[in-house]
Amino acid sequence: NYVLDNMNIVPESDAVIQTNDRSYHFGDGVYEVVRVYNQTPFQLDAHWDRLFQSAQKLDMNFTITADELTKATMDLLEKNQVKDGAIYIQVSRGASPRNHLYSREETPIITGFTMSAPPSKQQEGIAAWVTDDMRWLRCDIKTVNLLGNVMAKREAADADCAEAILHRDGLVTEGSSSNLFLVNDGILYTHPATNLILNGITRQVVIKLATDAGFRVVEEAFPKDVLDHADEAFITSTTSEVTPIVEFKGQITAQMPIGPVTKKLQALFKELI
Ligand code: PMP
Repeated sequence: NYVLDNMNIVPESDAVIQTNDRSYHFGDGVYEVVRVYNQTPFQLDAHWDRLFQSAQKLDMNFTITADELTKATMDLLEKNQVKDGAIYIQVSRGASPRNHLYSREETPIITGFTMSAPPSKQQEGIAAWVTDDMRWLRCDIKTVNLLGNVMAKREAADADCAEAILHRDGLVTEGSSSNLFLVNDGILYTHPATNLILNGITRQVVIKLATDAGFRVVEEAFPKDVLDHADEAFITSTTSEVTPIVEFKGQITAQMPIGPVTKKLQALFKELI
């Protein structure tokens, strides 16, 4: 099994990560996870765009081009013979003696690895744990600093839930590693792409599929009590695609069927890939 180590493809056991990498000290890095279907990365350009945006928002000295990233990605997928799976690419701001103050002259370090396709819960749906969003105010940046997310995910798993649905002061934001959609009276609702959520690539694809199919999509924040009487709910992400929620637990208790709108969007998504 091979990995990407500072843009070089090397056997996993030969990879060298420096102890003064700023990703370790400060979570000072950004990343992307790209799904691979039939040897083809899905929505690759959109992922690179978001990676560049994340790096730019953090004032990183990131000069690698999308073409170079694509080449490294394709080479690694081929080397590991990934047919269906995913690739993880991380960009650390750089490595230097620990100091909160970063230099704008750091040299970014790019690492990556491939993964197999995760088990799908798209047929049976998942239970979701409703809890407080305790993350920072720049959730639009896809950084490796994910403690608020990992703590919420653990809390959810301890309550036998596959995902945590977060709210900030009573307004639902997103999942710990996914975006959330509700369906009421055939209309889709999801949090707008502000600083309070990560604007998921899957979210954007699903909004386009839904709109093209004639559904109304309302991008507005809604109170968590609305979860209580949703007709349908689902999460979207690169790895979970369109996964129905059949139960809310925690601060909201509700059950819902896997409805026709969710099923339609799952079908349209499958068609697209
Ligand atoms: N929100 C958060 C917090 C995430 O970590 C992710 C990705 N795992 C998403 C949303 C979904 O984004 P995407 O569809 O681009 O995978």
